[in-house]
Amino acid sequence: MHMQERRPIALHTKIFIGLVLGATAGAIAQSLAKQGTWFTKDQLEAFAKNYASPIGSIFLYLIFMIVVPLLMSALVLGVAEIGQARKFGRIGVRSLLLTIVLSGIAVVIGLVAVNVVRPGDQISGAQKPALIARYRDPERAQKYLDDAKKTPEDPPLLGFIPKNPIKEIARDGLLPFMFFALMFGLALAAIEPERALPVKAFFDGVFAASLKIIDWAMRLAPYGVFFLIFAITAQFGLELLKAVGIYAVLVLAALALHLFVVYPIVLKFIAKRDPVQFFRQIRTVMLTAFATSSSNATLPIALETAQRDLGLPKDISSFVLTVGATANQNGTALFEGITILFLAQMFGVDLTLLQQLQVMGLAIVAGIGTAGVPGGAWPFIASVLVMLKIPPEGIGLVFGIDRLLDMSRTVLNVTGDLTIAAAVSAMEGETEHEVAPSFA
Ligand code: ASP
Repeated sequence: MHMQERRPIALHTKIFIGLVLGATAGAIAQSLAKQGTWFTKDQLEAFAKNYASPIGSIFLYLIFMIVVPLLMSALVLGVAEIGQARKFGRIGVRSLLLTIVLSGIAVVIGLVAVNVVRPGDQISGAQKPALIARYRDPERAQKYLDDAKKTPEDPPLLGFIPKNPIKEIARDGLLPFMFFALMFGLALAAIEPERALPVKAFFDGVFAASLKIIDWAMRLAPYGVFFLIFAITAQFGLELLKAVGIYAVLVLAALALHLFVVYPIVLKFIAKRDPVQFFRQIRTVMLTAFATSSSNATLPIALETAQRDLGLPKDISSFVLTVGATANQNGTALFEGITILFLAQMFGVDLTLLQQLQVMGLAIVAGIGTAGVPGGAWPFIASVLVMLKIPPEGIGLVFGIDRLLDMSRTVLNVTGDLTIAAAVSAMEGETEHEVAPSFA
């Protein structure tokens, strides 16, 4: 009884165990159903659909529940912070532009990669219709069709400005809602600080409470993943997991491309630094990001490294890094793009070019609204899936291996912040890196 007390199993290990056990149990159940001695295929299917899947989805629904307050508070605070840097006007604008450009490139890399490799098409032709049918019941399909018919009378360009934000939230209108939060944050930065302060304190509390709920939801995740994966493999066998493996390799390759090609270009041409030396100087930061999966947890070390090893001016680096820990997440943006499209492919949801562009825009904005904590990307992914009519239960498929991907994308998130800090410092002509030993 006392054995486990000292060394509790880490959550991500438990989630992984949930994945392996769920897949094994599912595969065994599938082969037993084929023999038909204990239960039939239909019975197994009914069990998977009516029990395993709903039980497994509980933690996902908790995550859905918290999307609105989490995004609202994170975006409002993030934007208010950037906007308030009025004395840093130019630095704020430059950081924001670089954030948007780098996140944009990251998402494009992700979208191109997933469209070229199409990991979601890896499952065999025969299984795909079954998978789609299983997750897209006619009632839902009809509801979606009805929704789609209700075309808003607004011209398309204005569709993202909500007339009534509360109504938009109820309709899963993520983009208009994000727009509302962005405007609100800007306004908060524009009014007198004394009056903005209590509102910011309020959102700070909302943010902290939202993170707490995610924390609770995540504790259920290992069990949820077990049931979700069981339900999926019981019906479709292990072949599905092959697609997930290819997806994971694709995510890692795309992240590596951004890390080792895009950042060095910015470093060399804008920050005027030697990329190899830069990476060497920040290696502890990268390792910490990898180990903790959290931009926030890595922030103190990033701040120290920026000033001590990179010789960046204190005011610029503190500002860019602090805001960037939540507001600049290139790795996450790239990951979100790939994951949403991968699941769309798996479930046979054909996204039009316009919808893909919408995913891209959303992922860039979501980079600002994603909390710098392990698994911070999921609330956003979950709600975009719902918006695009992709069965969110599919998350169970990729959740089991998320820890490794989370560790890796967090490295990019943090490296991106440091890259932008170095670039902005160089643009300001304030870089002190010549002082540090270089090209030794
Ligand atoms: N773990 C990431 C971070 O802290 C967020 C995420 O992508 O889930 O930067």
